[in-house]
Amino acid sequence: LSAPRNFFVGGNWKLNGNKQEIGKIINFLTAGNLDPSTEVVCAPPTIYLEYVRQTLPSSVCVAAQNCYKVPKGAFTGETSPAMIKDVGVEWAIIGHSERRNVFGESDELIGAKVGHALEAGLKVIPCIGEKLEEMESGKTEEVVFCQLKAIADNIKPDQWQNVVIAYEPVWAIGTGKTASPAQAQEIHVMLRKWLNDNVSADVAWKTRIIYGGSVTADNCRELARERDIDGFLVGGVSLKPDFVQIVNARQ
Ligand code: PGA
Repeated sequence: LSAPRNFFVGGNWKLNGNKQEIGKIINFLTAGNLDPSTEVVCAPPTIYLEYVRQTLPSSVCVAAQNCYKVPKGAFTGETSPAMIKDVGVEWAIIGHSERRNVFGESDELIGAKVGHALEAGLKVIPCIGEKLEEMESGKTEEVVFCQLKAIADNIKPDQWQNVVIAYEPVWAIGTGKTASPAQAQEIHVMLRKWLNDNVSADVAWKTRIIYGGSVTADNCRELARERDIDGFLVGGVSLKPDFVQIVNARQ
């Protein structure tokens, strides 16, 4: 029985681009032959969300890179899920390693953001992953389970269909050091087992777990062959035409 998990590729543009550069990305996404069975989601900087949503073909989804845990109020500089939805955007990445490690977001805050975004009707891509020193000291399992629990505790049973988990080892992000297919597969299996034991067998079977960290056109096919790698979250290469090859990694 093959799993009912559609291949999913997200492009996280991070703090990059301007209207001209975004125009080029939109061009290669529009002109490229994207595998129609891959769900593609692009995450531009907040200020360009509406522009990108209006310009991209509707077959490509758009995600915010972050959002706050309440609908509105005195929170200068923040963006709420309700506002993201209001400009026609369906998804949000939450708890990316740069949010955790550069902006100091805690497991607790990330859990609250996931809970609120789902309640507000967004689909979410919560991110987890261990740092280099945690991997080297054998703490990967402990760290990713703790991060996953803080997220899962805020998701109601019927909301899991709107969740894609991104496993991104911090040592692999933007470093050119990718986890090997076997290494990534091993963690994805562990995470799926955690979902099976702590949420439900159904959620474990149906929830997509995608890999992120130095995914390229060269290494994506080998990674995509692993049974439990249901897609990718791509940083650097999502700004380049090679991104299309990653979208098509299963072809
Ligand atoms: P990278 O980033 O592909 O540039 O390593 C991945 C990410 O941060 O999602």
